[in-house]
Amino acid sequence: MQASRRSCPKCGYHWAWLMSDGRFKCRLCAHRYKWLSVWDTSRLSERDKQRLLEFFVLGVPAYRARFRAPCSRPTTERFYRQVRAVMAIHEELAEPFEGAIECDETMLGGRRRGKRGWGASGKVLIFGMLKRDGVVRVVAVPNRQKATLLPLIVQHTTPGSLFYTDQYSAYASLKVQGEHIVVTKDKGVPQGRDHINGIEGFWSYAKNWLYMYRGIPQKFVHLYLAELSYRFNHREQDLFPLLHKALRQTDNAEIKRLLGRSA
Ligand SMILES: [Zn+2]
Repeated sequence: MQASRRSCPKCGYHWAWLMSDGRFKCRLCAHRYKWLSVWDTSRLSERDKQRLLEFFVLGVPAYRARFRAPCSRPTTERFYRQVRAVMAIHEELAEPFEGAIECDETMLGGRRRGKRGWGASGKVLIFGMLKRDGVVRVVAVPNRQKATLLPLIVQHTTPGSLFYTDQYSAYASLKVQGEHIVVTKDKGVPQGRDHINGIEGFWSYAKNWLYMYRGIPQKFVHLYLAELSYRFNHREQDLFPLLHKALRQTDNAEIKRLLGRSA
């Protein structure tokens, strides 16, 4: 008998019995349901999972960990994907930005040819928003048109924010969401607070990480972007305890939509 960590999927009640087969039984409506954390889904030993998480936190790609990992490379890759999916859920839960926000886009990838490239052109267009205290949010986008970028800005920022962008025309109508300062670089170095150095700093941070990963499977681009923004947004913290806790608190069912069929 034990209170469940998650509420009943049927009625939402937060108290349940733990049954002998490991399922939970809602104390209110008697609905029986399973709850398995991402961490508990893996059959690896506690020690092995901690070792893999340690490698992940230190940024050791699966191919480099292959001689030292406690399991096969596909198992390491699968575990890493699960960690990235948990990071993605945390990034999704973050509040919309307010205050001074820099917006910019960039192309990532493209250096490497072959199967592990970035889709047809080998590159992915990324749109990024950075709040001036250094928190970032990034999304892969099909193009840099106004119809694509503006809804993202509206979704991820609070009206009345102050936007800094380059002079690209898709940003022309940002006034609908707040004040807009266009950063011009034609005349040399941007002056004072009128710059987008924050988001540009993130792009170089992201490119450094991705270089080490040697290309990313197209269908998991969203997971890698989540990893990059999570790492950047927690760059002053030790990721091990954060992720260890998050993996034990996230319902495995929640990450399935992020992992696709190959999970
Ligand atoms: Zn119930």
